[in-house]
Amino acid sequence: MAQNPIVTKMLEQNRTIAANHQPIPFFSELAGLGVKTPNTLILTCVDPRVTPEKFLDLSPAVNPITVRNICGHAGPAIPDIAALDAFMGIENVFVIHHTDCGALSFTEDMIKNRLKERLPEKGEEIDGTVFGAINNLEQSVRDDLDILRASPYIRKELAEKCIGFTYDIKTGLITPVAE
Ligand SMILES: [Zn+2]
Repeated sequence: MAQNPIVTKMLEQNRTIAANHQPIPFFSELAGLGVKTPNTLILTCVDPRVTPEKFLDLSPAVNPITVRNICGHAGPAIPDIAALDAFMGIENVFVIHHTDCGALSFTEDMIKNRLKERLPEKGEEIDGTVFGAINNLEQSVRDDLDILRASPYIRKELAEKCIGFTYDIKTGLITPVAE
C-alpha cells in the first residue's frame, strides 16, 4: 500500500522535532518534581486558527488543559470535564468562543440534511442530535455556561468557577462575556 504523502511528511517532521525533544515527566514523576497537575481547563473550538497555548501564552505554571470541539461547546465536553475533575481536580473552566467561528456559518438544518442524504435510515437520530451551530457569539457562550452549571456532573463549586470569554481572531484579545 502506498504511503499517504501527508503521513510521510508528518513522520519526517516529527523525527526532526523529536531530535530536540525534552522528555516529559510521567504523572508518577510530577509530584517528585514539585509540579502540580493541571487544574485550569479551557474549553474552546477545534479551529486551527484558535490555539489558547499561543494567544494566552500558556506555560506549565498556569497548568492548563485544553478541551476542544466544534465552537467549544459544553454539552459534548461534559464527560471530559467530569472525568478530568474526578481524576485530578479541576478548579476553573474557561469557555472561549471565537469570532468568525465556522459554527456561525452553518446551520443545524444544513448539517442534518447532508447527513440524512448519506444516512437516510438514521433520520430520526440525526434530527434528535445537536450539531453545534450558533447565531450569536456572546449568547452561545452564555448558553454553554448555563449547560455546565445545570449539569449534575459538574460540581457546584466548579460550576461557580465557569467563566466565559470571546476571542477576537483579528485583535487577538479575549473579552469576558457579560452575563
Ligand atoms: Zn470555531
